[in-house]
Amino acid sequence: MNDAKKNITVTSPLLPPLEEFMPYLQDIWERHWLTNNGHYHQELERELCEYLGVKYISVFSNGTLALITALQALRITGEVITTPYSFVATTHSLWWNGIKPVFVDVEPKTFNIDPEKIEAAITPKTTAIMPVHVYGNPCNIDKIQQIADTYGLKVIYDAAHAFGVKEGGKSVLNFGDLSILSFHATKVFSTIEGGAIVCHDEKMKQRIDYLKNFGFADEVTVVAPGINAKLNEVQSAFGLMSLKHVDAAIAKRKIISEEYRAGLAGIAGLSFISEVDNVQHNYSYFPIFIDAEKFGMERDELYSALQKDGIYGRRYFYPLISSFSTYRGLPSASVDNLPVANRAANQVICLPLHQNITDEEVDRIIKAIIKR
Ligand SMILES: *Cc1c(COP(=O)(O)O)cnc(C)c1O
Repeated sequence: MNDAKKNITVTSPLLPPLEEFMPYLQDIWERHWLTNNGHYHQELERELCEYLGVKYISVFSNGTLALITALQALRITGEVITTPYSFVATTHSLWWNGIKPVFVDVEPKTFNIDPEKIEAAITPKTTAIMPVHVYGNPCNIDKIQQIADTYGLKVIYDAAHAFGVKEGGKSVLNFGDLSILSFHATKVFSTIEGGAIVCHDEKMKQRIDYLKNFGFADEVTVVAPGINAKLNEVQSAFGLMSLKHVDAAIAKRKIISEEYRAGLAGIAGLSFISEVDNVQHNYSYFPIFIDAEKFGMERDELYSALQKDGIYGRRYFYPLISSFSTYRGLPSASVDNLPVANRAANQVICLPLHQNITDEEVDRIIKAIIKR
């Protein structure tokens, strides 16, 4: 097949050489222990704490169950303030807990929840804020915490995009009451399916560990209506193996992001998020935003034109969560309440970004956008 015709996908799983996985499998077979807080599960939690620079982590079978369980762990009820500009699982986790989502608009620089608009959305029923570090760019953590402290609210970060992200040398996962990660195959670091909750004290870690295993505290004691969200040994070992490769993958993503920035600078009607000083990024996504009037073409036209060239970007996040049938009837879901998020959803394309993209492919993508 002609190389120039090869399809380029938005993401590609981090898959180390198969030989590297074999010794792990052999050891698991010898141990006769496949799940329930096994050797590799414990090892993965230890190594993730060290890698991420956090005190306590509890790994999960996926990020969505981690979100749902985090809300249970803090006994969140009533209304929670959140962002519509995210993956659906953020809001679904509230729904699964019988919590009413209250959408607040995002700010136009990072597309994270706009802290200036949070206070107006607080009611006597508000119990928590669930922001998202979207594309791995840190939220305005200080301002959000200040509001939470003033009104006595909990803060749960959906940090699914923020694996390894640091601000001022500190992991963003150390802020708020809890942070949630996703280790899905499409993310920077993966356990195929998987996720985690990061917390700051031993008691909370204990409670979360009970909750992810049906609420069992010991053989005969069930302390809470827990769920089954455990990560098995094979996937935990996959994570340990992948962790050895994640720095190289992030370094490659950085180079590609820089090539995009240089190659796409100065195109009328095309913008991207500027890098923030003081932030150690993971280069998880490269969103571009198309202002149709100035660019001379609608976002969806560019999206289709690129696909015809074999370049498969994704419109993260379109449609907005607030426009899905479950949520669109909520007063906070109206377009008038969420102008910045609606504009971003209508302008965004995330360009292919992963460790297997070659310089030639980056070049091909940039040229395809320039020529349209
Ligand atoms: C991927 C993702 C999730 C869900 O994680 P899963 O591991 O796929 O369940 C939640 N929130 C955001 C922002 C995500 O990108």
